Amino acid sequence: MPKANLRPVPGSRPFHVFECSLCKTRFEGIGPVDPRIGHAAFEAAFSEPKAALFKEWNAHLYPAHRRQWEFQRAKMEKRGVAKKEAEGENPGSSL
Ligand SMILES: [Zn+2]
Repeated sequence: MPKANLRPVPGSRPFHVFECSLCKTRFEGIGPVDPRIGHAAFEAAFSEPKAALFKEWNAHLYPAHRRQWEFQRAKMEKRGVAKKEAEGENPGSSL
């Protein structure tokens, strides 16, 4: 079974638009950030939209690629990352 990946849309500006490699659903990426502002500032400017992007991605996986969502979740649980997320909102609950 092919794995769904969140990947930048070919030909788009870097980090600007992402798509699901399986069903080509598009996600708004991270706006233009000038890498010359320095590594720390760059990371800071990225962290919020990056978190939002991955939240959207998880919300997409849940209804569209459920098996992968479960796989990813199991993997995260193994690392102890999903714990606080599991106590919070369910990515699919708004659908
Ligand atoms: Zn998809």
